[in-house]
Amino acid sequence: MNHLSSIHQPNGLSRRRFIASTAGACLSLLIPFNSSSAIHRLKKTVKVGIITDLHQDIIHDAPARLGSFVQHINKVKPDAIMQMGDFAIPADKNKDFIGLFNQAHDKRLHVIGNHDTDTGYTKDQVIATWGMSAPYYVQEVNGISFIVLDGNDKGSPAYKSGYPAFIGSEQTTWLKEKLQTIDGPIVIVSHQPLAGPVAVDNAAELQDILSDAADKILVALNGHTHIDAAYQVKNVHYVHVNSASYFWLGNKFAHESYSADIHQSHPVLASTCPYKDALFTTLTIDPQRSVLYFEGRSTDWVGKTPDELNYYATANAYHADMVRSAKGRSVNNQLTK
Ligand SMILES: [Zn+2]
Repeated sequence: MNHLSSIHQPNGLSRRRFIASTAGACLSLLIPFNSSSAIHRLKKTVKVGIITDLHQDIIHDAPARLGSFVQHINKVKPDAIMQMGDFAIPADKNKDFIGLFNQAHDKRLHVIGNHDTDTGYTKDQVIATWGMSAPYYVQEVNGISFIVLDGNDKGSPAYKSGYPAFIGSEQTTWLKEKLQTIDGPIVIVSHQPLAGPVAVDNAAELQDILSDAADKILVALNGHTHIDAAYQVKNVHYVHVNSASYFWLGNKFAHESYSADIHQSHPVLASTCPYKDALFTTLTIDPQRSVLYFEGRSTDWVGKTPDELNYYATANAYHADMVRSAKGRSVNNQLTK
């Protein structure tokens, strides 16, 4: 079995520093660092529990999925927890759901996704309801500076239609200043990718900015794509973390994976292939071994698979390959079960 089969690099992106390894029964993505990396400034190992793209407003069982994440982190006892967007609109009906995450850990990080302001909510309402300090911010976790970005800026010169995916000049100026003044190690976080498929409009600019601080940056993490993928661009590692809930196919692949009453109350769910169990991952940063690794879970599709729906015949080829190999896994909830 090729353990690297779930790690994808389109042409021009290097994968030479990625190594897949096993950690107990669970495959991990492992990234090693050289002696100049800021990882060596850490005194001890840091763990972060990560979940993304729960989509409470699309899937009926998001509370149960979040519940299994909370159970998991109660066992693992990470130093912090993080949800990377497309979590829940700040509506009254979602207060308990948002509270379930917020009450699970004293140290928690939120990232704003493109769907979190759906149905007319504002970023300020998301920030207030979730309990964030700002749309983009720095948070310390036991010696690591997490720089959380907001990929929902308007004003992209390349904007055509749909949700914006852009990091504007006010934010890039702030980011450059942070990268200069923080010694590291640093983890960069955004909902929309900064490298790989459907990256922000100014991904090349962001990659150059991050590259200038490559020795300080351990990894740049994103959700949004609902796939497993990892890249290395100009000495910075980029990792896509899969959704906790489903892969999106779109209305022309509409089908029912659950009972009719569930689809009646959650009509958008028909456009997805749901994952049977919630996917999430634990990021461990170990300065003694000079490595960072992800440990995750594997699961299967509910109902018809994208293959059975002939999704790949019409989808973009390399994107389709990523979906097929991700198959309801999340970084790095890879392969076997
Ligand atoms: Zn998204």
